[in-house]
Amino acid sequence: MMYLKKIIPCSLVAILLSCSEVKLPDFDVYAEGQKEVLDAFGFTFDPSLIRHETIEEDFHVIFGFGGNILISIGEDGVLAIDSQFPQIYEALLAKIKSLGGSGINHIINTHWHFDHADGNRAFGPLGAEIYAHINSLNYMKSGASINLVGAVYPQQPYEKEALATVTYTDTLDLNLNGQTIKLMNFGPAHTTGDTVIYFKEANIIHTGDLTNLDGLPFIDADNGGTLEGMISSLYRVLELIDDDTIVVPGHGPVADKDTIKSFLMKLVAVNNRIDALIDEGKSAQEILEINPAKEIIEEVPFPILVNRALVGKGLL
Ligand SMILES: [Zn+2]
Repeated sequence: MMYLKKIIPCSLVAILLSCSEVKLPDFDVYAEGQKEVLDAFGFTFDPSLIRHETIEEDFHVIFGFGGNILISIGEDGVLAIDSQFPQIYEALLAKIKSLGGSGINHIINTHWHFDHADGNRAFGPLGAEIYAHINSLNYMKSGASINLVGAVYPQQPYEKEALATVTYTDTLDLNLNGQTIKLMNFGPAHTTGDTVIYFKEANIIHTGDLTNLDGLPFIDADNGGTLEGMISSLYRVLELIDDDTIVVPGHGPVADKDTIKSFLMKLVAVNNRIDALIDEGKSAQEILEINPAKEIIEEVPFPILVNRALVGKGLL
């Protein structure tokens, strides 16, 4: 692994070793096959595209490249749910500073996918404590191929400093910034290492990629995700929240319970339709051609969701 020595600006990284030198990887070095996929997603890493929305006092959502980052600022410092990409770590730190924080002290990863956790490669070495589901830690350690149907993203193993140091299996309760924070995994769904994070007093939930309100719902079926798991996990989310809950999805705009309910109902409809076609004796290939998701989620004309669902059902 190549390393560049970088001087971290003192003003941006108060949590750190007081302005000393921290060795960070060279984030312009990509594993074979990564850059093409990042380009296809339109991830330009242009810092001017990073914006935020304040959703409650001391809670902000940062939209940039990749998964939505939920920020909590308080007496325990800055807690970030997900970390996006290390290529924009300085811009993310500048944004956090503008919101009244300095550095990132804690990161909870909703899962291990590159667009949610790669930022650990910067913020881990800079001193953040990282929390994740045990299976997500294992994928961060090993790396994995993420089959996006039509493209495969080869996620590389992370450096030791980028790995989660606090893990759990079913649930974990944390107390940070005056909040009771519940980390929950409801079994294999988007991945096998998903974490839903609920801030009890603030009544804010981050669902990670159990909810994608910006384009294609995706299931990492090659690595154990299933459509049925997405559905059952979202039912558990609905049990937890109420009409006043602020919902931060993995991607897309800040939402509420009704939005999650209608997203779930679409997934249920797609799943029921696939199962009905299976019962009719249709082959996986025929079901892909029919692409029942197209009827239900009009903005998603590609059969990616159906493809991944069929893999999850063991039919592809
Ligand atoms: Zn994901």
